Amino acid sequence: MNMNTRNKKEAVVVFSGGQDSTTCLLWALDRYENVVAVSFDYGQKHKAELECAKEIADKFGVELQVMDMSLLNQLAPNSLTRADIEVDENAPEEGTPNSVVDGRNMLFLTFAAVFAKQRGITDLVTGVSQSDFSGYPDCRDVFIKSLETTLNLAMDYTFCIETPLMWIDKADTWKLAADLNGLDLIREMTLTCYNGIKGDGCGNCPSCKLRREGYEEFLKRYS
Ligand code: ZN
Repeated sequence: MNMNTRNKKEAVVVFSGGQDSTTCLLWALDRYENVVAVSFDYGQKHKAELECAKEIADKFGVELQVMDMSLLNQLAPNSLTRADIEVDENAPEEGTPNSVVDGRNMLFLTFAAVFAKQRGITDLVTGVSQSDFSGYPDCRDVFIKSLETTLNLAMDYTFCIETPLMWIDKADTWKLAADLNGLDLIREMTLTCYNGIKGDGCGNCPSCKLRREGYEEFLKRYS
């Protein structure tokens, strides 16, 4: 397809209201004339996640589409959705942490792609990162490239999956947010805590630890 015929003015951002996807939203707002955010309701323990996504989208006047993915919990009960399964405090020595839902990113991106094509949009933005690889195989660059090819073949379309965070660590994710004038917004309005506490979070869960260590490293690296 001729590149000039592609609509590079709009993008769909896979958006959870967390640090990474909110940084991606800022990144997309900086580059595209119109951005649509897509969030997935998969029976998260913490509805606060979807509320954060809504608040942030509203702040920027971004259209937010919330898609029902309750199917995911039926397929793969896990610690993010089931009240009776505790999130692993530390990464297990073998295998993936119990917060993993197999194929989650693949499914999210695939549904986002179907939605984007309906709107004539080719660009999908996702906050996956290989640098902070924590046991999620569908966050790897090789997978994203493979999925992009698969989606193009599946729908006879020219999707482009943008991954602004793929090769940067948590400290540089904070730096990117700062460069996009979003440091305070990310600190205050996003939710990454496994215990559902916005901003700085509970401070104890693996996600809070990662977030705090990344922030401290960012301050050290760029002070
Ligand atoms: Zn936490």
